[in-house]
Amino acid sequence: MRRSPDELAKMRKAGRVVAEIHEATRAAIRPGVTTAELNEVAAAVLEKRHARSNFLGYHGFPAVICTSPNDMIVHGIPGDVVLHEGDIISVDCGAIIEGYHGDAAYTTGVGEISAEAKRLIEVTERSLWAGIDQLVVGNRLHEVGRAVQRVAEAAGYGVVREYVGHAIGTAMHESPQVPNYWPGTPGPTLKSGMVFAVEPMVNVGSYDTYMLDDGWSVMTADGSLSAHFEHTIAVTDDGPEVFTVL
Ligand code: MG
Ligand code: MG
Repeated sequence: MRRSPDELAKMRKAGRVVAEIHEATRAAIRPGVTTAELNEVAAAVLEKRHARSNFLGYHGFPAVICTSPNDMIVHGIPGDVVLHEGDIISVDCGAIIEGYHGDAAYTTGVGEISAEAKRLIEVTERSLWAGIDQLVVGNRLHEVGRAVQRVAEAAGYGVVREYVGHAIGTAMHESPQVPNYWPGTPGPTLKSGMVFAVEPMVNVGSYDTYMLDDGWSVMTADGSLSAHFEHTIAVTDDGPEVFTVL
């Protein structure tokens, strides 16, 4: 679906709130902090900007951010989990402004992290930007996943299959989906005004996953580290415009 300039302006605002949450939570990440404390930091930004959370209450999700450490891929519930030196942590969050949604995620280290963890984070973020580069008018949507997959697999990593990106607008998750791999069938042709959340989830080992008994936390099947980066991006006549940045 193509968004009008007025709709895009609202999505730009929502995206900036998400970016502010990223900045505030990143500043709070250190050894000893709990994931519940990060959730409080995010909730304070939403309140300050008079934004609503699109995570809180989503199919019953109990928080405004997802916090997914180490071998957790996505959808972790904030709580009394304490972050330790050497951990990596993925933070995913969103915001609604005037009915329009933003959604973005990042992964970062807690204190000093291993060379392997650093490389995973660097490669996953680079794979996101390779995908974003494909969001140009006239291109096909599946080129995004192809580009992500090329970067991640060249590094020897596994690209998660069960969870994917999505179109976004007046709902957080709209059709079509945006896989991070070649899906076997060509995607739709990109037109200006389309907006997508591109979100590679990349594992050091295999792409297989399992879910914890909480019904949310998605883990790597082999226990390897996983990273997640996401932006909300509009296709424009001047190329991709990333909304979830300051
Ligand atoms: Mg997200
Ligand atoms: Mg998303």
